This record gives sequence, C-alpha cells and structure tokens, in this order.
Amino acid sequence: MKNMFSLEKELAKKGIISEAVKKIAEQENVEVERLGEKVAEGKVVILKHKDKVLGIGEGLRTKINANIGTSPDVCDLELEIKKLEIAEKYGTDTIMDLSIGGDIDKIRKKIIEKSNVPVGTVPIYQAVIESIEKNGAIIKMPEDKIFETIERHAIDGVSFITVHCGLNLKAIERLKKNPRKSLVVSRGGAFLIMWMIMNEKENPLYKNFDRLIEIARRYDLVLSLGDGLRPGGLIDSTDSSQIEELLTLGELTKYAQERNIQIIVEGPGHIPINEIETNIQLEKKICNGAPFYVLGPIVTDIAPGYDHITGAIGGAIAAWKGADFLCYVTPSEHLSLPGVEEVKEGVIASKIAAHVGDIGKGIKKAIDIDFLMDIARTKRNWKEEKKISIDKEKFEKLRNKFPLRERDVCTMCGKYCAIKIVEKYIGVKVGC
Ligand code: SF4
Repeated sequence: MKNMFSLEKELAKKGIISEAVKKIAEQENVEVERLGEKVAEGKVVILKHKDKVLGIGEGLRTKINANIGTSPDVCDLELEIKKLEIAEKYGTDTIMDLSIGGDIDKIRKKIIEKSNVPVGTVPIYQAVIESIEKNGAIIKMPEDKIFETIERHAIDGVSFITVHCGLNLKAIERLKKNPRKSLVVSRGGAFLIMWMIMNEKENPLYKNFDRLIEIARRYDLVLSLGDGLRPGGLIDSTDSSQIEELLTLGELTKYAQERNIQIIVEGPGHIPINEIETNIQLEKKICNGAPFYVLGPIVTDIAPGYDHITGAIGGAIAAWKGADFLCYVTPSEHLSLPGVEEVKEGVIASKIAAHVGDIGKGIKKAIDIDFLMDIARTKRNWKEEKKISIDKEKFEKLRNKFPLRERDVCTMCGKYCAIKIVEKYIGVKVGC
C-alpha cells in the first residue's frame, strides 16, 4: 500500500480522490471531497503501513502514538515486541521506535515487520550513535551520515520520521541570550546542538532541507518536524527559544507543503494548563494548519510515577482545542525506560485523553459511543458495558472484586442501587 500511491498531497491538489482518501473517509465517517481538500491543503496527512492507511489532522479522530525502543541499559528485542503488542491491543494508532541500544537496524526491521500500525523513527539517534562508535565523537559525524540514515529508515518502510529541522544557529543564539532553567530535553535536539556548536556549522537538516524533501518524495515519507527546543519544565514554557524554533518550523512547513510533502509539526511537552490553547493556536497559525503532534502535554512537573495522568489531562485539553496527534506518556516518564505494564497504562491514559478531546471537538463517533455506554449503565447491561470499556480485563477484575449478591447491580450500593430504585418507581424508559 505504501508505494501504491505516490504523494497523496499531489493527487489531492489535482482534485483526484485516491483510494487512501476514500478509505480514510470511510474509517472516520467524514465527507470524502472535503477530506481530499484538507489533504491538498496540508491540514490532514496520510500515513501508510502495509495495507493500512491512517489519517491525522483537522476534522478527524485524535490519534495517539506509543513510543517503544531499547536503551543502552535495557536492550531486549522480545520485550520491545511485547510492548508493541500491548500498545496495539489497547488501541495505539502509531508506534515510534526510539531504540538507542543494541542492533538498531535489526530492532527497527522487526518492529516494522510485526507492527499493524504505522511506524515512526528518529533517525538522528542512530546517525549519532553510529558516528560515535565509528569516529569516537559526535563532532566527527559527517553531514551525509544523517541523510544516509534517514534513507535507510525509509527503505525499511517507516511511515514517518521526526526531524529537528527548525533548530538552527539563530535559535541557539536566542537560547544563549535567554537562558533557561530547564535547558533542553529533546534527545535529538541535544545531539544537534552539540554538533552545531562544536563544528560551528548550521544544522544540516535545516541547511539541506531540500535534500530531506527529496528523500520524503522518493519514499512517500511523512516528515514530523521535531521541537528540539521544547522546554524541559513548566518554568520555561512558551519561551522565546521555543517560539523561535516554531517560527522556523512554520517557514519549513509551508516550503515543504508547496512541494507536496506531508508535514506534521511537533510541540511541547511541559505546558501549564492555561497555555495549552495558546500553543495550539500558534502552531496552527504559524504552520499553515499542519497537524499538531503534542508530547502529552504534561501539565505539572510534581508527579513522577503518574505522568500518564498529567499527560492525559494535558492531552484531553490539547485535543479538545485542536491538537491532532498525542504522544503518550507513561508512568515511567522521567524515571526509567517503560516496561510492558507502563506502556499499557500510557496507551490507555492517552486513549482516554484523545476520546475526551474528541467529544469536545464534536466527533460524532466519539459522542455516540459514550451515549451507548450511558444506556448500557442505566440498563445495568454489564456485558455491553464491558464490551464498550477500553480496559475489559480491569472491568472484569473490579466488577468481581467482592462477591455479587445481586447480579444486576454492583457492590457499591447493592440493594440500594439508585438506578434500580428510580427505574422501579418512576419507570424511566431507556434504550434505543
Ligand atoms: S449499585 Fe450504585 S454504583 Fe452500582 S450500578 Fe447501581 S447505582 Fe451504580
């Protein structure tokens, strides 16, 4: 499927409704011509993986991503495949392989082979790691190495890549003039800052953006423009360095869109709840309506171990206010590499956030499924409630935690079940 259609945006601009657009319109229950227009405008991007297509952007259901991947300290391919499986089971829309330990090529190939959802990567990680292994220092990484690695990922079949193109020398100057308390927390951003400062050279991904566009065109790759200068804490949120990078991303987005390359723009990160809407409005205005991919966002920094919750609170508001794609956060965030259980918790939390946001956005499918649950609850139709629930195992476990005396109520109120009492005396009719 990935190579069946070349450049969806090009086809859409010519007014051609591709098979991918038709399929997504059906999946999302949206009008096909309008969807085609949004693809042409760059407000919706299409990811392809094997025989599947996924739409991300304006008017569509909010999508979620789960990050998996090895580290230098924990490198177990079997474990990563288990994480992939659990993330898919609980409904992730995409997977990002962020591996930085072990045989990175082998891990990526295996994840792409096993995955049923589009796979994304951050090729700069591998370019840097291989350069350090071969040349002993990041400073010696040849510029070509970055593009060669990107091409390798594209050949393997990744659907989208994060590229920190907006982090240029001008942005570093601004960062130096406006020092931060939380520095930089983007791994790719940190690698590039080090390389640029030590070599006194411009970011190759910015300087040679046309080369990146050429690779994206050749392999039908969606570019996710990374936010290397996202603040690392609420203390620096929405600061001048973050905005400097966003302005450059806006220019690059328009340049790429004019050349029919599909663009997603990445955003923070750590944002107080009252700045989420502003961040979304800025991205949409500056980046020509390109889909916005936010990391959480995390709305407080004081809850290590519960950052799937802080991320879900931010994610729900972000989705409601127009973010299109949420990167999950796991309870392990800021503490360790997540295990299988943390991946599950992260996906569920992000899934809830996206759904809550979709209700706020007025996505009909999201509203309808909630109404179905309301009816099932009133009828005390436990089978149906379980069917609709995101986590069916937890539903079953908690429902049967204490012996049930009456099967049509639960052990919270037992024979004093409010719904049952009102149903008996007022005779509310439910269901449709
Ligand atoms: S017993 Fe109480 S909590 Fe349980 S279904 Fe009835 S009203 Fe709801």
